[in-house]
Amino acid sequence: MAQRRAPTKRPPLKACKGCGTLNYRDAQRCESCGSTNFTDDWEGMIMVLRPESSSLAQKVGITKTIMRAIKVSGKIV
Ligand SMILES: [Zn+2]
Repeated sequence: MAQRRAPTKRPPLKACKGCGTLNYRDAQRCESCGSTNFTDDWEGMIMVLRPESSSLAQKVGITKTIMRAIKVSGKIV
């Protein structure tokens, strides 16, 4: 019988220290705020696909499709 497991590998992402947005590893600048200050020390992920229909996204000021970390360097962003 085939067994399915959740992937344990982290996605190839780094978090912006300024705003918590997750950017792909090859990104030079944060796609959200333009910062170049990144860290690999992040936890949790929020993915907003349709911010216009998400009250949570509106609450935290997300207006476009992005991925954000919940914690960056141990701090909630
Ligand atoms: Zn940023």
